[in-house]
Order: sequence, then structure tokens, then C-alpha cells
Amino acid sequence: METSPGCDDGLMATTPYTRGLHELGDGVYAYLQPDGSWGWSNAGLVVDGEASLLVDTLFDLKLTGEMLDTIRAAVPAARAIGTVVNTHANGDHCWGNQLVRDAEIIGSKACAEEMGGLPPALLAALVASPPEGPQGELVRTMFGAFDFDGIEVVPPTTTFEGELSLRVGDTDVELIEVGPAHTQGDVIVHVPSQGVVYTGDILFNGGHPIVWAGPVANWIAACERILALDAPTVVPGHGPVCGPAEVTTQRDYFTYLTDEVRPRAEAGMTPIDAARDLDLGPYSGMSERERLVANVAAVFRDLGMPAPADAATLLQQMAAFGAGA
Ligand SMILES: [Zn+2]
Repeated sequence: METSPGCDDGLMATTPYTRGLHELGDGVYAYLQPDGSWGWSNAGLVVDGEASLLVDTLFDLKLTGEMLDTIRAAVPAARAIGTVVNTHANGDHCWGNQLVRDAEIIGSKACAEEMGGLPPALLAALVASPPEGPQGELVRTMFGAFDFDGIEVVPPTTTFEGELSLRVGDTDVELIEVGPAHTQGDVIVHVPSQGVVYTGDILFNGGHPIVWAGPVANWIAACERILALDAPTVVPGHGPVCGPAEVTTQRDYFTYLTDEVRPRAEAGMTPIDAARDLDLGPYSGMSERERLVANVAAVFRDLGMPAPADAATLLQQMAAFGAGA
């Protein structure tokens, strides 16, 4: 296990971005999976006494099993995870749930409803025989490193709407629903005593975020909500541990995007043409640029203008965009 020295002004600068479990404070940890691109998600752990709470499982059984082994070896009190929180319904945050099915699994009501939407077997079949051309390339980029065989979707056993206060031993943990934004039921997990917030995919640190649900205004509000918590340490859904500055960047990205897309939509461009035409300015260096296709489509929808909303069409367009077609 990698352990970072404690300090009062947050640990974002001292938590190395290496694969594995990192201690962020007293009983709070992040499990990181570089490089944070498609499917390489982060998880979290809160432990107090014999009580433990895991924030998210991973994309497949092998990765989740490795994470649980690492946790058991490093933190004996977390040998049997008592509570799991799924931040949202994307597979890279919940498809390892069957390995912690003895735990109470908590998610928002909207997350639970969304979770069965994409059967893992469908993804397994897609990876086994990807389509020809750019779409096949994108499928390999997004999912090629993972093994979707044997995954059974295990939905939350406890659901909530709005907010839910938990206690892990003597540690207060606040679950705050901020979706729909990235997905229908996004939840963030705040540990006030340690100044740590796990954002799920409300924060992608380093890469473009991707709007599957929207509206974008909700995502901006979600960033404001995180900032208002005043937590010095922020564990994003993907990318290195950071602080509030990266949340501000994420918020400003969406404001910039909205301001840039609106005149193009009003001028009659299609969403894909607007995505090609955009000047990303300060956000030009971000990875997973193909996600812009989904994000521009989301802004169009928010403006009441026609744009694709289904994942299949968006993936097709992202593949073409990534290939420069
Ligand atoms: Zn994710």
C-alpha cells in the first residue's frame, strides 16, 4: 500500500497517482487506477473500528477482486465490507458488486433504476466481435482491457433520494444526490471530519467528462455543491486525487462549452458539426476528446434542439469524430 503523509492543507499534492490503495487521512482511502481513461475508475474506502464503507466497485470481477485483496491485506478491519455505495450506474463503478453482495449496497433510486440498462453480456459480445472500422477501434479503446464474462448486475439493496446520513463506526458520512448529470442518479460521498469528498464521475480529472444524462446545468450545480463542502481533498471518479481547483475547472469547462455551443446551435449547425467547429481554448489539452460529441449533444438537448441521446448513436458519432471523419 502507498501511504501519504498527512498535512492540514489537503493531500492532493502528496497522493501519488499510482495503482492501488492510498491513505488520505485517518481511516479514509482512495483506490486509484491510472490512467483514468475509459473504464479505469477510482474507488474509495472509509474505515472506523470494525466498520467499513466502500465507495464503488470496479469494471470487472478480476479488477474488483484485486482491489478487495489489496484492501484486506492493508486494512484488516475492512476484511468484510459492511456497506457499499455506488456513486452511479455505469459499469466501471458497480460491475464488481457481486463480490461484495453480503454488504448493504446503497445507491440513489435513480441509480438503481438505471443499473440494469446495459447487460454485461452485451458488452462482452461487443468486445468479442467488435464492428469494423472506427467503431471497432473505439470499442477496443473503451472496453478492450476488461473481462465482462460472468458479471451479474447486483443493484443497490438500499435506495434513497436527496441526501442520506450514515455512520461508519463513529465517522459521519453524507451521501448527496446531485444527478441527473453524468448519469440519471449521481451521488457524491462526503466525509466531513476528514475533509474528503468522493465525487464519482461528477469529476474527471485530466480528461473530458462525458454527459450521458444531463442537463449540463445540473452538472455545474453539482460542482458548486462540491465546492460548498469546502473539502480540501477530492477523489475524482477518474484521474489523480486533487482539490477544489480541479472541481472549479470542471465547472468552468461546462460553462465555456455551453457559451460556445449556443451560437453554433442557433446558427443551424448540427451537434456533430458544432463539435468539430469548437475552439476548446483552455481545455484543448484534455484527453478523450471524442466525448465532446456527447457533451455538445447534451447542450443541444438543454437548448431544446434536436440531438441524439442514446448511447449507441453517440458511440457511433464519437467513433467517427475520433477518426476525424
Ligand atoms: Zn466512470
